[in-house]
Amino acid sequence: MLEKLIAGKWIAGPEIEDSIERSVALNKLGIRTIINYLGEDFKSKDRVEDAMATYAKLIKEIKRRGIESDISVKITQLGLRISKAYATKNYLKLARLAKPLFLWLDMESSDTVDATIGAYEKALHQGNVGICLQAYLKRSYEDMRKLVKKGGIIRLVKGAYKERPEVAFQNKQAVNANFEFLMKYLFKHARKFTIATHDKNMVEKALLLNRSYQRQVTYAFLNGIRGSYARMLAERGEHVAVYVPFGKLWVDYAIRRMREQGHAMLILRSLLGS
Ligand SMILES: Cc1cc2nc3c(=O)[nH]c(=O)nc-3n(C[C@H](O)[C@H](O)[C@H](O)COP(=O)(O)OP(=O)(O)OC[C@H]3O[C@@H](n4cnc5c(N)ncnc54)[C@H](O)[C@@H]3O)c2cc1C
Repeated sequence: MLEKLIAGKWIAGPEIEDSIERSVALNKLGIRTIINYLGEDFKSKDRVEDAMATYAKLIKEIKRRGIESDISVKITQLGLRISKAYATKNYLKLARLAKPLFLWLDMESSDTVDATIGAYEKALHQGNVGICLQAYLKRSYEDMRKLVKKGGIIRLVKGAYKERPEVAFQNKQAVNANFEFLMKYLFKHARKFTIATHDKNMVEKALLLNRSYQRQVTYAFLNGIRGSYARMLAERGEHVAVYVPFGKLWVDYAIRRMREQGHAMLILRSLLGS
């Protein structure tokens, strides 16, 4: 009940089949999906092995049913809190298994960025991998320059974690200014990338930039947010993708979405009794 109330808006459901059904519906509207199995910060190998097995099943199912979908994983779901070598090995294994499907690496809290980028660089030669960079992080310009030069495929977001002022811009204006700056860098220097934001103003700026640059841009949204705008863009012939999470570990994901909405945190805390 609680799950349906809070998570149902953003999450496809608990099972692989839920994410597939959601994808089939979105594909019919000309929208790709980016499927993510919920879970992060795993400290036990059992949980990591479960995630690996679930992704393997998901990949098989997407291929078998011809679903237009990418996959997105988190490095801490693949074992970073256990060891960097273990998580990297798991990620490389999934990147090989996923081929020819496209595998994204989500970006998590700032203490994981070096390891996430390190793993990504090892898979770059495979050609079917992309990585998320966060505009709120002060380091993202340097990371973007380095990765774009190496042929990396970037998904640009504002950033969803609570970060210290030493590493991240704290106010909306500064984050937006950096997002726009990084977006312009992508238009100038990258061939193919994803602009992942619900900020219509920013999407409109990107659409305008692409009139001159003619890049392969995908506009991506989270499941349950800006649905009609996403459909309108797809109808206009833009590449559009929706990030579709599924699974039972929905709490962390739902809390990040509530924080963005700027309300309901107190309700959630009281409902969860924390
Ligand atoms: C496809 C995709 C993948 C992502 N992957 C990552 C990732 O790997 N790592 C990471 O740190 N972050 C990721 N994010 C989340 C991102 O960092 C932001 O936290 C999130 O998108 C909210 O910021 P915004 O760009 O939409 O802009 P904001 O300035 O926060 O929002 C712009 C407007 O969009 C609407 N809006 C925004 N959020 C919500 C919401 N939750 N509910 C309802 N309306 C809303 C509001 O009208 C708001 O005024 C991803 C986002 C997308 C779309």
